[in-house]
Amino acid sequence: KFKPEVMLVTGGAGFIGCNYVRYMLATDSDVKIINLDLLTYAGSLENLKELPDESRHTFVQGDICDRELIERLLREYEIDTVVHFAAESHVDNSISGPEIFIKTNVLGTFTLLEAARQYWQQEKAFDQSQCRFHHISTDEVYGTLEADDPAFSETTPYAPNSPYSASKAGSDHLVRAYFHTYGLPVTTTNCSNNYGPYQHSEKLIPTIIRNCLNSTPIPVYGDGSNIRDWLYVEDHCSGIDAVIRKGTLGEVYNIGGINEWNNIDIVKCICGLMDEANEQNSPHESLISFVTDRPGHDWRYAIDATKMGKELGWQPSETFETGIRKTVQWYLEP
Ligand code: NAD
Repeated sequence: KFKPEVMLVTGGAGFIGCNYVRYMLATDSDVKIINLDLLTYAGSLENLKELPDESRHTFVQGDICDRELIERLLREYEIDTVVHFAAESHVDNSISGPEIFIKTNVLGTFTLLEAARQYWQQEKAFDQSQCRFHHISTDEVYGTLEADDPAFSETTPYAPNSPYSASKAGSDHLVRAYFHTYGLPVTTTNCSNNYGPYQHSEKLIPTIIRNCLNSTPIPVYGDGSNIRDWLYVEDHCSGIDAVIRKGTLGEVYNIGGINEWNNIDIVKCICGLMDEANEQNSPHESLISFVTDRPGHDWRYAIDATKMGKELGWQPSETFETGIRKTVQWYLEP
């Protein structure tokens, strides 16, 4: 069992990263967190207000591609655990401008791996009880599924279809290679779609809620039949924590909510919750507006999270119905 003491969390001012920082400060009373984030359009210091314990959190604005900075942080804070969230994460942006995805997701991950390799080799001789590199990835690396295909497992071959998923696939392979080539103590998680507090307004669920509030059209790609597995973000954080503490080195773990939903049903479900919160308006479903589908849009993702349950005893604690209620309430809070 591994106990993280001083963590370098990358991308900790973004959606999942800030939830993870909150989760760790609240559940581990010893851990210290150095939070490295470039504060691109997707990151915000607003996401880090009123942390459970500010005194154990240090924010550093900087780029994961900046080798000198990473080396300095590893040494200065004697980092024993890297938890790597930082990425360009929006598929639509990767279609209009793929280059930054390759730079941040591939080169950035490589820079972190190289710096960690050199620092931990010198300082800790890769002692597995003393250091850990955890990489956060996505189920999108596995490509798309037909209706009757079995869910993605850890042995499903990679078949990325967007520049985003291709860049994440590249980073996953580098992490794997650093384990097999150098013995860097790594673990990787591939997770399904997250939802919950602090998600950037560009993503599906915040867009639905915002457009309901503003009574503006809710855009739905194609006919809305695309299927995704959804996981409440705090359940993702508890899954990552379980893998860092108890996971087997060099292994990949799929994390999912066992909650497959069509996009259109998600929209209708949220519209129903918004109707409950705002009774005097006409039904929010009338705002739904179908728009031209995204090129290369994967039709279905589903995650088989059996390994997380069997090996690590992890289960999601929210169903979609309970998690989405919490989420809508959070966005409605003043
Ligand atoms: P996000 O876009 O909300 O946050 C990304 C953060 O990374 C931002 O704060 C941004 O400022 C920071 N960042 C970007 N480039 C950087 C750089 N060069 N140096 C330092 N910081 C940089 O993304 P998210 O939704 O929180 O996703 C986090 C991770 O989880 C990503 O690796 C993503 O691929 C993965 N993931 C996300 C989902 C999801 O549903 N959101 C699902 C599975 C996996």
